[in-house]
Amino acid sequence: AVPLVVAISTSESAKRGLLIRNRTAFENSRKISTIIFDKTGTLTQGDFGVTRYESLDSTLTKDEMLQLAASLESSSEHPIAGGILRKAKELDLKLSEPTNFQNITGKGIKATLNGKQMSIVSPGMLKEQGLDQPVGAFKDDSETVVFLLQEGEILGYLALSDEIRPESQAAIDTLKKQGIKVVMATGDNEMVAKAVSTSLGLDDYYAEVLPEDKQKIIQDLQAKGEFVAMTGDGVNDAPALAQADVGIAVGSGTDVAAETADIILVNSNPQDISNLILFGTATYKKII
Ligand code: ADP
Ligand code: MG
Repeated sequence: AVPLVVAISTSESAKRGLLIRNRTAFENSRKISTIIFDKTGTLTQGDFGVTRYESLDSTLTKDEMLQLAASLESSSEHPIAGGILRKAKELDLKLSEPTNFQNITGKGIKATLNGKQMSIVSPGMLKEQGLDQPVGAFKDDSETVVFLLQEGEILGYLALSDEIRPESQAAIDTLKKQGIKVVMATGDNEMVAKAVSTSLGLDDYYAEVLPEDKQKIIQDLQAKGEFVAMTGDGVNDAPALAQADVGIAVGSGTDVAAETADIILVNSNPQDISNLILFGTATYKKII
């Protein structure tokens, strides 16, 4: 049987948009001193749309370049893949089936297409491969740009944009007023990270981080005596959600994030985090 106090707070928490999976973490939310947010799908909608795309290969039209990129992305579940596939569908492009599909965690994807080794990668991965950023690829700081490569050569680029969730600003302002340090950690590039961080007035941000880096950032803060909450939606956030003192998953995110987290934001509204802290504190003091 469920103890009465838990039963009451479960229905009370539901009203506040919270699903509590770990009661200790819930009550400990009063101790949070730093909160780390993932960007894509957490502070932003995670709904990418292609804004620009260009071929850099004289034998390919821009739509042929998009067709190749969409074919590769057809095996990916990343929000970037969703945006590229939507664009290809709008243009009625016929896709081919890639083989040997692989995720390059936090950096892109690779697969074999038409017998060639192809990949779609982040600006950071492009640099790692010793390739220069093509002229014109970056125009707007808020765009996420990825590159299509074939056998180590750049065939083209695609720029995508995502929007900040309408509730994110109020959520950040409230947390800051509560004296909590608000930080973002994202796998996306430096320019996008900076643009989102500046727009929301965050205390700090980390860009181009891998899933294990997100976990390490939390570990380092904990070693300095910080009580850390992590909010994320993706498979790549799971190690950090597990590491955090309070792991908070966004309801619209992946099952892996939800299963790893202590608390789930049922309505995917980051403003419910301040409800969590107030309600967790009240429950701890047995006011409710
Ligand atoms: P985030 O922390 O923002 O959720 P990810 O770790 O999922 O980021 O991805 C980081 C970066 O890796 C993306 O910004 C993109 O450059 C690249 N990337 C990841 N998956 C894909 C994909 N399916 N297609 C193209 N690029 C990808
Ligand atoms: Mg995410």
